Amino acid sequence: MAMENEPALTANDREQLIRRLFEVQLGRCFICEEPIDLDLHAGKLDVDHVQPKSGPDGKDDPANFALTHSSCNRSKLASDLRVARVLARFERIGRDARSQGREAPNLGDVLSAFGGARYDLPISLSSDGRVRYSFKHLAGTAGIKIQESNLHQDQLAQMDYFFAVLPLEYIHHDSKVNPRGIGKSLRGLVEEFYKGNPQLHVALGWVPMEADGDGRVMLFDGQHKAAAQILLGQRTLPVRVFVDPDIDRLIETNTNAGSTLRQVAFDKSILRHLGSELYADRVRKYQHAHHLSSDDESFSETDLVKHFAGEARAVRRYVVDAVRDQITQHPENRLRSYIEFSGKGTEKPISYSTIDKTFFSLLVGQDMLSTPIGQGTETGENPRVLEVEQIVRLMNLVAESIFEGQYDFEIGTYQLEAKVQKGEDVPESHLRAFRMGKEEVMAAWLKYVQRVIDQYYLFNGLSLPSRRVFQVNHPELLWERLRVFLHNLAGLSLWTNRELSLLAFGGKQPAGFWDTVFETGRNPQGAQVLPEPLNINALLAPA
Ligand SMILES: [Zn+2]
Repeated sequence: MAMENEPALTANDREQLIRRLFEVQLGRCFICEEPIDLDLHAGKLDVDHVQPKSGPDGKDDPANFALTHSSCNRSKLASDLRVARVLARFERIGRDARSQGREAPNLGDVLSAFGGARYDLPISLSSDGRVRYSFKHLAGTAGIKIQESNLHQDQLAQMDYFFAVLPLEYIHHDSKVNPRGIGKSLRGLVEEFYKGNPQLHVALGWVPMEADGDGRVMLFDGQHKAAAQILLGQRTLPVRVFVDPDIDRLIETNTNAGSTLRQVAFDKSILRHLGSELYADRVRKYQHAHHLSSDDESFSETDLVKHFAGEARAVRRYVVDAVRDQITQHPENRLRSYIEFSGKGTEKPISYSTIDKTFFSLLVGQDMLSTPIGQGTETGENPRVLEVEQIVRLMNLVAESIFEGQYDFEIGTYQLEAKVQKGEDVPESHLRAFRMGKEEVMAAWLKYVQRVIDQYYLFNGLSLPSRRVFQVNHPELLWERLRVFLHNLAGLSLWTNRELSLLAFGGKQPAGFWDTVFETGRNPQGAQVLPEPLNINALLAPA
């Protein structure tokens, strides 16, 4: 296939040009930088303009030509091949991170791919309010010169800081204060900086003042901009460095920037994680204030909220965030593989926001507990531990009944109902998993899961505070009922009925739509969706 951007040449000229470019490029593809073999790749190579022909300098000039694998040229992420090459580098860094089981790469991955994050910074404070430091590990004059900056004080925050231009070798990524990965917005930033538009915000970092005089500079803000510049070949970055700051305060500031202040677009899962860190911090502060040892957990969530009365609402949220975070981070959580953690993708069936609005808001106890936070830990009766482990167990039942071996990542979710409506061949098991994983659908059927539990306790003459439904140890008999219920629920015909695409599943339905369907068998407009209302007893009959 001839690329529209490919220069018009005779076969012979093209052959010669390919050989010349092959030499100039040291035998590597301009985009992916992997080796090219003129024989083995024959017929699968492209000669393309580096700067697109439509661009300001997109000349039909040999100096503006590059040799690439055809496949690389076709899947390039930018029309300018130099930008495409930079983005291809980042793709490789992302693949490495994912092969290690992480969702996305972070600045630490970019730094280590470019020889950064290697040394601690030799640093000292002098009595005249100056900061002195050196890059002694670097060769030549850069390693010899003593660097100096003024130490400033942020009067409101009572924090000391200085400005410095640091070589990458002395910059490290702080994944504790900033646990985010690098998202797709990087592409836009690379293009922006490539055009020559300057960075508008300086990156933020911190350094501890250690007794031996070396401190590790940790970057916690501005990682996307830093990554884009490093990918484009920058070897130094300007940084505002806080000296010996209160780390918990930085975490809190960063969390607020992403939540209440909306300065940063944080994923909700990241906010939950930061909330969880802040919970651990409040526990430490409480212990410190009451002269308790760090393993003393004799106080309750209610005590915590009382102690931090000025920020009671936030502390309540941190407590619940810690539970939510432990559930999603749980190593045995098998539903995790089906959750899209950053934004909206089309590969996985459930967004994190759906989990937040279904499992978490329906099933995680929001009330503060007045029992000691460590109570029952040793006997397996701690209510929060039980809650985490049993919700994970329920999620695993859901994964097993609906998603595992059934949902096909290759097909994904993109315009799935439209495909069904056009009569395309969508496998039944995939369609079922997709439909049952829709937020409003899942929220409605999870209420029935709760009813199965309530009914079990009622039948046995017991009652259960519904807002703490997973904080007590459920008997195996109940787990078996839940398994049967989910299995039978997944067997209902509506999940695979293609005619319901228009009547029920196409588009996002308003709140209450699915409650009405399950309670009456009909949608709010009166059309039949189920042959009869959902009947718990029928769904509890073993197959
Ligand atoms: Zn290539």
